[in-house]
Amino acid sequence: MNAPRYPRRPTRQIVVGKVPVGGDAPITVQSMTITKTADVEGTLQQIYALASAGCDIVRCTCNEIEAAEGLAQIVPRSPIPIVADIHHQYKMALAAMEAGVHGLRLNPGNIRRPEHIKAVASEARDRKIPIRIGVNGGSLDPELYDKYGGKVTPEAMVESALREIAYFQEVDFDLIKISVKASNVPLMVEAYRQLSEVTDHPLHVGVTEAGPPPAGLVKATAGIATLLLEGIGDTIRYSLTADPVEEARAGRQLLEALGLRERKKVDLIACPSCGRAEIDVIDVAKRAMDAFGDRKIPLQVAVMGCVVNGPGEAREADLGIAAGNKRGHLFVKGRNVAVVPESEMVEALVEWAEFIHEHGTEAAMARADVEKAEREAAKDRSMLLDAKGDDANNSTDKIVEIRRRSS
Ligand code: SF4
Repeated sequence: MNAPRYPRRPTRQIVVGKVPVGGDAPITVQSMTITKTADVEGTLQQIYALASAGCDIVRCTCNEIEAAEGLAQIVPRSPIPIVADIHHQYKMALAAMEAGVHGLRLNPGNIRRPEHIKAVASEARDRKIPIRIGVNGGSLDPELYDKYGGKVTPEAMVESALREIAYFQEVDFDLIKISVKASNVPLMVEAYRQLSEVTDHPLHVGVTEAGPPPAGLVKATAGIATLLLEGIGDTIRYSLTADPVEEARAGRQLLEALGLRERKKVDLIACPSCGRAEIDVIDVAKRAMDAFGDRKIPLQVAVMGCVVNGPGEAREADLGIAAGNKRGHLFVKGRNVAVVPESEMVEALVEWAEFIHEHGTEAAMARADVEKAEREAAKDRSMLLDAKGDDANNSTDKIVEIRRRSS
């Protein structure tokens, strides 16, 4: 388990549907549907796909009356809580609550009349529906924008959130979570840091409009992971220009990678490949990823390019395979357990992973002929060492050549 660097910042807990957010609740993954909410079947299909990819809470836009009517049919059939996303029209918030949503998201930048904000908060208070105050750097209240010198600053974003909280307090409503997202990573990181100093409401963390992968994934990870490792954040969303299932998957993978959520699926690791590689590591790793898909096998599985160093380099993995002499050498916790033809490496990996998941590592070792497998691995290892020597990348020759040319 990778312990976070800093203890998690204490926050109050709210409950969205049946999912707790904040306090000691696990950090949750959110995403948003991109269907028309009025398209009930299409939206539900997407929600089911998101839930199976690791999404805990989903947001659907509620921008028109047809969307609110769609929500009335979606909410009772959804496997995860639904948050209605409200922009500009406070009446859509009232309609969404009538439809039975489990939470609302309001953007203080575009619902600005205090009487409208308080009308929504009063209704939410009576129905015990939490609201996220979703400040967005790109749609900051123009008055705050001017006040802070025509710039979006962390201070302006925090002030926007605090103003909204003050309206909520006037009507005695405190089922709040807050986000201060921006597409600029250092800006959003600083805004969340400042916000976490002045409030103990749970925080929803994200980099807004991060863009398409891979750059969007990198940006979102940079912002979200930085904050999580500082103990800031109770729920997260990757905002990618991609199928939202990718957002949910990325969110879940990040939490698992940081040791903040238990692993549910295979964590596939692979060596970067080098002059020793006996297979196309990228291709085999990709085929293995596809073969495991969304199967719920919470193991770390390694794909290694050679049997010379692979089993040792990946000895922490639950299971792995390394190539050598046209054969795949399976290993469990660094010990060789079986040899299969190279063409069957991926199938064997999946079969062993399923066996270990079902029966445990000891049972896997017991069914293996470890002695024979280690003998075969040693044979292929020494054959490869004889063929390529200790310096498979020919670094020594290259260094000699560099020195010769520069002398
Ligand atoms: S030595 Fe083998 S396991 Fe390590 S990077 Fe090279 S091919 Fe992969």
